Amino acid sequence: MDYARILSEIVEEVRPLVGKGRAAEYIPPLAEVPRDRFGMVVRTVGNEVFQVGDSGERFSIQSIAKVFSLTLAMRLEGDAVWERVGREPSGSAFNSLVQLEVERGIPRNPFINAGALVVLDMILDHQAEGADLVLDFVRRASADPSVGYDESVAGAERATGHRNRALAHFLRSFDNLGNDPDRVLDAYFRLCSISMSCAGLATAFHYLATGGLSAGGEEVATPRQAKRVNSVMLTCGVYDEAGDYAYRVGLPAKSGVGGGVVAVMPGRFVATVWSPCLSEKGNSLAGTMALELLTTKTALSVF
Ligand code: GLU
Repeated sequence: MDYARILSEIVEEVRPLVGKGRAAEYIPPLAEVPRDRFGMVVRTVGNEVFQVGDSGERFSIQSIAKVFSLTLAMRLEGDAVWERVGREPSGSAFNSLVQLEVERGIPRNPFINAGALVVLDMILDHQAEGADLVLDFVRRASADPSVGYDESVAGAERATGHRNRALAHFLRSFDNLGNDPDRVLDAYFRLCSISMSCAGLATAFHYLATGGLSAGGEEVATPRQAKRVNSVMLTCGVYDEAGDYAYRVGLPAKSGVGGGVVAVMPGRFVATVWSPCLSEKGNSLAGTMALELLTTKTALSVF
């Protein structure tokens, strides 16, 4: 497969879309990211890396990080995870309060904000003072000890995240949050602020293309866990656009409001893309088109 040629075609074909749509202005530092950025990486299970554009520039991975927290919680808690969070698409906004009320405090899935808060609450139960299990996991998966939080993004979310604060207290009122809501929120804001490049993300997600083995050969998930995480990504990974994504792209994917998207072709590759401007539903506009072109041009998808 000539991934290098395919990527150079894609970068030309998506150019008209780069800068169209809106960046996530509700998080102040994200509003300042230049709109003209576009980067993409395909990293094969054989560790070949193909990249174009701004693929080495770090950006705020936002909700993409919820894949790491889910995987870690599944490692720590096994099937008990699913007693406190569902695994169905939400069909409503990622930060909806209404759904949580109707469903009595059990978030629909681990990728909406309420679900991610519950997942972090589980992880915190296992975390000793001074430790950071999520960051350790991401660093292990990516074989990069320099991965870290962007404290300016975390701080901005802490200052503006009233809805997330409401969700945490709401969960607490339904007894689905055991730790102090402020502690869980702090972990949440930091999780969303992790800063990585397309290249770094492609390495970190290697385990989902290989049945659980990291790029460094370490088992960071079992084959069953990797399958399950991919399944939840396919059905719940791209906000309220999962149907359209399955139709257009045909791969498990997770996006974030920073404009990043990670897509996994199990057994073949991880593809990552970043361009900050988003569709109405919150997925990178140019990024989605780029992934659609990738699966069209390679004729590779899970379907
Ligand atoms: N930190 C963002 C929020 O809670 C995450 C948004 C996202 O990428 O889905 O609003």
